[in-house]
Amino acid sequence: MQKDKMIYEGKGKKMWSVLGEPDLLIAEFKDDLTAFDATKRGNESGKGALNNKISTEIFKLLMNAGIKTDMLQSISDTEQVVKKCEIIPLEVIVRNIATGSLTKRLGISEGKILPFALVEFCYKDDALHDPIINDEHAILLNASTQEDLNYIKDQARKINEILKPFFASKGLNLVDFKIEFGRDKDGQIILADEISPDSCRFWDIKTGQKMDKDIFRQDINGGSIKVAYEEVLKRILG
Ligand code: 5GP
Repeated sequence: MQKDKMIYEGKGKKMWSVLGEPDLLIAEFKDDLTAFDATKRGNESGKGALNNKISTEIFKLLMNAGIKTDMLQSISDTEQVVKKCEIIPLEVIVRNIATGSLTKRLGISEGKILPFALVEFCYKDDALHDPIINDEHAILLNASTQEDLNYIKDQARKINEILKPFFASKGLNLVDFKIEFGRDKDGQIILADEISPDSCRFWDIKTGQKMDKDIFRQDINGGSIKVAYEEVLKRILG
């Protein structure tokens, strides 16, 4: 499997075409960290490898439970081969516990356990700062159809129902997470991108300690995420 051209560079990953394989891409996980609309930037050696390993394990778990994803296989510490798909320009956020933008936006108390898993959509557009939108906005923006939004919400809730007890068994509360979906060449909607401590919030069940990118966002432990991400990987594998 040989990398050809870099076709896209995002905040956390570079995407490469693959020589002679038009339906595949290689995702290369970067060590860069960004927060607050990329106004805060950092870099920690080894972060890309940790996220590649963590995301690979989580996607494997989801695929074993019947969720369709773009992931094919990890090919190095920082790289995985994925099925090429057209990313749907929505960030799908699932919340179990109130924190972050939800508490700021609606005044819900920090740490409140939500009575049901809340699914939100943000429109992926850097220039607009990824605004929160509802179903009708998504349809108006041609981001999706109502039928596809219903499927995406259903998949997001299923993913939460698989991941919440899994992480609880590892001593971690899955507070919230962001996922993305794409359409493969047959038009099937599949889970894409990554699921890692960059895109989830994990709180230690016993101590409440934050084990995710909030460490960087909030400068906890000098903003260094490595020990926490290593602990998340250790618990996932343990
Ligand atoms: P919030 O809306 O509270 O800032 O974030 C909710 C959840 O979605 C958190 O787990 C957060 O890490 C994730 N999230 C929201 N926006 C982004 C984003 O642009 N990139 C990544 N990687 N995660 C995000």
